[in-house]
Amino acid sequence: MRTQVGIVGAGPAGLLLGHLLHLNGIDTVIVENRDREYVVDRVRAGVLEQGTVDLLAAIGVGAGLESRGLRHDGIFISFAGRRHRIDMAELTGGKAITVYGQNEVVRDLIDARVATQRPLYFDAQCVEVNALDSSTPIVRFVHGDTAHELQCDFIAGCDGFHGVCRPSIPEGVLSIYERSYPFGWLGILAEAAPSSDELVYTYHDRGFALFSMRSTSITRLYLQVPPDEPIERWPDDAIWEEMLTRMTTSDGWQPNVGRILQKGVTPMRSFVAAPMRHGRLFLAGDAAHIVPPTGAKGLNLAASDVVVLARALKAFYETGSTDWLEQYSAICLRRVWKAQRFSWWMTTLLHRLPDLTEFDRQRQLADLDYLIGSRAAMTSLAEQYVGLPQDF
Ligand SMILES: Cc1cc2nc3c(=O)[nH]c(=O)nc-3n(C[C@H](O)[C@H](O)[C@H](O)COP(=O)(O)OP(=O)(O)OC[C@H]3O[C@@H](n4cnc5c(N)ncnc54)[C@H](O)[C@@H]3O)c2cc1C
Repeated sequence: MRTQVGIVGAGPAGLLLGHLLHLNGIDTVIVENRDREYVVDRVRAGVLEQGTVDLLAAIGVGAGLESRGLRHDGIFISFAGRRHRIDMAELTGGKAITVYGQNEVVRDLIDARVATQRPLYFDAQCVEVNALDSSTPIVRFVHGDTAHELQCDFIAGCDGFHGVCRPSIPEGVLSIYERSYPFGWLGILAEAAPSSDELVYTYHDRGFALFSMRSTSITRLYLQVPPDEPIERWPDDAIWEEMLTRMTTSDGWQPNVGRILQKGVTPMRSFVAAPMRHGRLFLAGDAAHIVPPTGAKGLNLAASDVVVLARALKAFYETGSTDWLEQYSAICLRRVWKAQRFSWWMTTLLHRLPDLTEFDRQRQLADLDYLIGSRAAMTSLAEQYVGLPQDF
């Protein structure tokens, strides 16, 4: 097979890139190693920045988002038993975030892809990328009983943190910047109507907790736990008891309790691989960088990477110029590092470190007190949370 851009991975980055390139008349083949149900059902991100929402609407995949997405103008920061609202829309000239599950975004993008009738292979096995330095890089994979060789002008490595593209780059090319955290998030999806219209980030002496939601009937809640915490240690009753202990505020606010539909523990990591390109392979999204989920940036960064990549590829096919492709990594990394900084800041502000001293605790509380008392500090949080402007 031959295509212009071979895309490895049908997560948000790969599907969105496929759609952006389709709209510019650029031919792509998407190769995904999981089946369609698995890709759609995977529960992950849920907070979309204003720019991501605007992008999805502009490219014609915003119908579900418009009808079922929950626009939030603010968030709550809770500590010492009180919730404090940060009015993001007022502080940013009307920008907001929208809560819409990543699985919904992925479903909408798969539907859009299928409607274009361009190829999308699920369940591809033995996926490999080769000849990255040549003018015809190759994606090899097995689909059903057939081995395929896909010759491309370019390959987009959109295969997430555990994919094959980044490890296919020769040793010594990439610089890796990494930090792991001494905690993880125990996340649950519960059949319970949200008791707050907006997210509540809680700092508590027993550890961080986050109240969020997926719809008007489903809440999504998280607890800080040790990074390798076995989920078996957490029967449903114990999860609810801990959620209520950490989140209940002195005015009586607390999450509604309901049947737990899904639960799991996710470790937290900050990771950047640079440059985000080797030869004709371009990395995008989690394949190149990971942020701890506290700042809700991962999916949004994946979207901004592929916007830059799609523009660079469009410029190449229209004019033959590789200038934008040369700058792809530098343009993306500027935004990635700002999101890394923000996610690290939110994480260290709100989590309890295992070796926390009383000095650290008082400093964290002073940080929080400053945040909710200073318009400048609230504006800084708000403009980063709703998403910094795309800066091309
Ligand atoms: C618990 C949790 C909560 C989160 N909350 C938020 C949030 O609120 N907001 C936010 O913005 N982000 C959040 N994130 C991060 C977000 O989910 C990721 O950043 C996002 O999924 C990145 O998209 P991606 O397309 O780059 O990678 P992925 O979604 O990982 O997609 C990669 C795709 O490649 C496929 N693949 C892997 N290996 C291969 C292979 N060898 N061959 C072919 N295909 C392959 C995978 O199956 C997958 O479909 C959260 C993450 C977690 C875990």
